[in-house]
Amino acid sequence: MKLKDKVAIVTGAASGMGKAIAQLYASEGAKVVVADINLDGAEAVAKEIANNGGNAKAVSVNVIKQEDVDNMIDTAVKEFGTLDILVNNAGIMDGFQPVGDIEDDQWDFIFDVNTKGVMRAMRKALPIFLDKQAGVIINTASTGGLNGAHAGATYGASKHAVIGLTKNTGFMYAEKGIRCNAIAPGGVETNIGSSMKNMNQFGFERTKSVRDVMPRTGKPEEIAKVALFLASDEASFINGTVVTADGGWTAAF
Ligand code: NAD
Repeated sequence: MKLKDKVAIVTGAASGMGKAIAQLYASEGAKVVVADINLDGAEAVAKEIANNGGNAKAVSVNVIKQEDVDNMIDTAVKEFGTLDILVNNAGIMDGFQPVGDIEDDQWDFIFDVNTKGVMRAMRKALPIFLDKQAGVIINTASTGGLNGAHAGATYGASKHAVIGLTKNTGFMYAEKGIRCNAIAPGGVETNIGSSMKNMNQFGFERTKSVRDVMPRTGKPEEIAKVALFLASDEASFINGTVVTADGGWTAAF
């Protein structure tokens, strides 16, 4: 029970890695706000957690709306009394074309979800963490936030920005007892994988030989274990950094 009585919010928790993180946190004793734009999916996850003896509350959130994000964090406090762990995991995968072909609307939308969505939630949660002089933030970046080859200009830039935001937040609030880290997953089997089919036309196949070094794709549960470690006291000296979980893909670049 590594997270006994901790209160956690996980965004993008109706599916994929967010769902696995919410389930693992609950099984480790946390009270979990299962937040997603897909409320039906979030409710199904919360129900599953409850059926397994855990404690969860589903919340509808579109991370591009500050009022939704505010409501998500207020709900954690109202339902469970406080907030200890914020996992900013919601994201979309698109925008693989090179910079010469970027369309403003698409760029703005991807950044609004993947990057500004992370900022909005951290900004709203920080006063709670500052008040307690304690708190953990985990942001889901991507191996696309670490290299330029396989995630396209817009998606890659949005995830590089998440890593920059994570490092600055870790640095700025370290002395206040708050830790902020990112996870950079690569090649994990989730619903988002369906968007990857568009990537080949933008040069993704040129990295195929590198991808072949990966023994296999990852499972959401394997990323959830990283998120559990980072949220727990076992990671008490880990701050402002990125943990890559990609089976060795990035190492091969
Ligand atoms: P997924 O599609 O299974 O889950 C993403 C979840 O985010 C979905 O439940 C979706 O409804 C939710 N979501 C999307 N837009 C939202 C919004 N505006 N507000 C609130 N919720 C929203 O995919 P996943 O692979 O589990 O993705 C989780 C995170 O991991 C994303 O940030 C993604 O960019 C990142 N990621 C995935 C991979 C991979 O290989 N799967 C690799 C690197 C990074």
